[in-house]
Amino acid sequence: PKALPNPLLKMENVQAGYADNIILSQIKFQLLPGSRIGLLGRNGAGKSTLIKLLSGSMPAQSGDIWYANGVSLGYFAQHQLETLRPQDSPLQHLVRLDPLVPEQKLRDFLGGFGFHGDKALEACAPFSGGEKARLVLALIVYQRPNLLLLDEPTNHLDLDMREAIVMALQEFEGAIVIVSHDRHLLSSCTDEFYLVANGKVAPFDGDLAD
Ligand code: ATP
Ligand code: MG
Repeated sequence: PKALPNPLLKMENVQAGYADNIILSQIKFQLLPGSRIGLLGRNGAGKSTLIKLLSGSMPAQSGDIWYANGVSLGYFAQHQLETLRPQDSPLQHLVRLDPLVPEQKLRDFLGGFGFHGDKALEACAPFSGGEKARLVLALIVYQRPNLLLLDEPTNHLDLDMREAIVMALQEFEGAIVIVSHDRHLLSSCTDEFYLVANGKVAPFDGDLAD
């Protein structure tokens, strides 16, 4: 029999919350290479909390989280939109990440996130919320993490831009975990679903449309 691949990440008996407000408990969760997971659940259920745990930006109160050797994480959340250097253009942000790449290649990549032509050269301030979100996403995806954690990536985006992001994520080759209320994004970019509810994370087999 074929050996199962080693998980990229594994949680065992994890409890998490904010001070004595426990949000998630006894969480058991594992992520295999190449998995494309959608996290569902109502407002306040703990989806963002779970993503923060997976990303390592929030410690578990108890339990264990293991990461595979060499795993690289890309984490997108709305609070990161304000971390962009306002005086820099999208192109300057990408050049800083990868100074040796020909400018045309960076421009082509930015075009996939809606920054065509002069848009790639305009300073980030005064960018709209959707423009900031697209740029932060572009910077994360450009670095090709092997696990991409996305918390509501299309929130501020209009229909055309949502479609651009869907296409970029369909081309992305690593594992993805997406928290979103955007059913189109979930049905196009993920194929396995978990429901966060009542402090637990459980596989969801129901219909996305319900
Ligand atoms: P939404 O769909 O509205 O984004 P969510 O499932 O992402 O909801 P979380 O952000 O994980 O929900 O929040 C879960 C609970 O944790 C909420 O009841 C919230 O009040 C609480 N919470 C979230 N962030 C903090 C924080 N920084 N400090 C204290 N409590 C928090
Ligand atoms: Mg949230």
